[in-house]
Amino acid sequence: MSAQLLEGKSVALKIKEHIRLDAEALRQKLGRAPKLVSIQVGENPGSEVYIKSQEKNAKDLGIEFDLKKFDAATTQDELIKGIERLNCDKTASGIILQMPLPQHIDGKLISRYISPEKDVEAVHPQNMGEIVFGKARILPCTAASCMELLNSIQGLELYGKEAVIVGHSEIVGKPLALLLLNKFVTTTICHIATGQRGTLPEFVKKAEILIVAVGKAGIVKGDWIKEGAIVIDVGINRVEGKIVGDVEFDKAKEKASHITPVPGGVGPLTVAILMRNVIEAAKSQLLS
Ligand code: NAP
Repeated sequence: MSAQLLEGKSVALKIKEHIRLDAEALRQKLGRAPKLVSIQVGENPGSEVYIKSQEKNAKDLGIEFDLKKFDAATTQDELIKGIERLNCDKTASGIILQMPLPQHIDGKLISRYISPEKDVEAVHPQNMGEIVFGKARILPCTAASCMELLNSIQGLELYGKEAVIVGHSEIVGKPLALLLLNKFVTTTICHIATGQRGTLPEFVKKAEILIVAVGKAGIVKGDWIKEGAIVIDVGINRVEGKIVGDVEFDKAKEKASHITPVPGGVGPLTVAILMRNVIEAAKSQLLS
């Protein structure tokens, strides 16, 4: 059996249709379009690609986009002041801080200065905390993308399913575990210590839903996949000039019922979720 592909693009298209309508409704209420402000400190080729994609998607959807560039030598205090100015700027609906930042700037500390209402990546502790209570309106983009891919599977009942997440980062694995728990999925999280103990295959083999977000090509072997499992591969790795995921795709697709291709799986969805977060942020600012 060859697995059905879970492609982010078609799911993203549906989400974008809603965003377009919401953006237009907000434009009429506010008298201006909702706006995403992207902050970049210094230069980074990876960030440039992501920023271009943000700009293109925002414009396509009726969201204004503004890039605020700071010099690589900007101090932490100057950056905080810049963020505080944007927090007070009523025209800025959402703020995203491009990572990586120069070494002298502490990204985790700086993220706390973005107003939770404008934090469209949900990196502020308040937004992370809301996920625990199942009340978050703004969700971390990659974790939310994984949930959207699961929701796109027709007839899938999440309640009571057994999931394994490999990778416990703050932007993917940890929030995703909470999102799955909120749907009554029995969730196991594996991390570096699982790998070191040598028990990763054991956990993976039990997963009805497997989500891998590590950043190591082929760390999950195809023959570990449970027959009929749903496999979401978040990993992005460059191997011999090609982009590949963390799961051995060719073997895994023979065992899984559904699997994301890399590229083309989670990736195309994350920017759509970011745009949806801008809309959610603008809506909640209207209410406050
Ligand atoms: P990260 O912060 O480096 O986290 C990687 C996680 O993998 C950590 O929790 C790490 O555990 C764990 N890990 C490392 N080696 C392991 C092993 N041998 N066995 C089990 N777990 C292990 O990375 P991230 O930001 O979450 O990103 C993960 C991957 O997803 C990267 O390839 C990234 O490029 C990709 N990504 C893709 C998208 C997208 O839109 N498609 C978005 C975000 C990220 P410790 O922390 O304990 O070391």
